[in-house]
Amino acid sequence: MTDSKDLCACGSGQAYAACCEPFHLGASAAPTAETLMRSRYCAYVCGQIDYLVGTTLPAARTTDLWVNYKSTADSIQWIGLEVVGSSQGGAKDKTGKVEFKASYIQDGVRSIHHELSRFRRSGGQWYYVDGRVKDYVSRDSIVER
Ligand SMILES: [Zn+2]
Repeated sequence: MTDSKDLCACGSGQAYAACCEPFHLGASAAPTAETLMRSRYCAYVCGQIDYLVGTTLPAARTTDLWVNYKSTADSIQWIGLEVVGSSQGGAKDKTGKVEFKASYIQDGVRSIHHELSRFRRSGGQWYYVDGRVKDYVSRDSIVER
């Protein structure tokens, strides 16, 4: 489990207590799509399955979502996050997109999950809608800023 004083697993360079922990505790909501995305990556690392489900858009929650998140979190060791780019997703936007690369080890093999995620703000809170997995070799499709 991540300690409050440890550097946040999302790679922000800040202490967990000053970064994703308030979001995980429900003390505050991620103000932008990118911070929500980082806090969700961090939740994967920490095994905070309820947070992953809770920050998925209610209409996009499937009945097996918790189990799916849990099995992914248990079978994968996340080792790094790089946010490639984002569009919209600010405090005044309704929607946002974030492109990221998350490095992980599964069954002893190191890989990169490259995804373009869509987010929606509802009731003052950002939610993950869905994501399109991209070919991680490709570098010519950066999100427009
Ligand atoms: Zn963080």
